[in-house]
Amino acid sequence: MLPGFIQFNIYANIKPMRIIFFILILFIVLYLIFSLLFQSNQKPNENSMGTEMVKDPNCDTFIQKSDAIRRYIKGNYYYFCSSKCVKEFKKK
Ligand SMILES: [Zn+2]
Repeated sequence: MLPGFIQFNIYANIKPMRIIFFILILFIVLYLIFSLLFQSNQKPNENSMGTEMVKDPNCDTFIQKSDAIRRYIKGNYYYFCSSKCVKEFKKK
């Protein structure tokens, strides 16, 4: 009779333990999904050339390489802040 009673107690204890375990796994999975989504949103900005600064030869302002307009003029690549600067630089 005693081993049966012990077994019953073990099963009674396992059920709520399983629920806690599943909740924990659910939180871990949700945390991993959110951290992956958060990382994928941040990484392109950090790793890309976006932070590299280039000088606009027309107005002498520094602009982010990713935002700059690249033009090949007279054998060199130039970076401009706007198409207006490209036109003005070509006139020079
Ligand atoms: Zn400019």
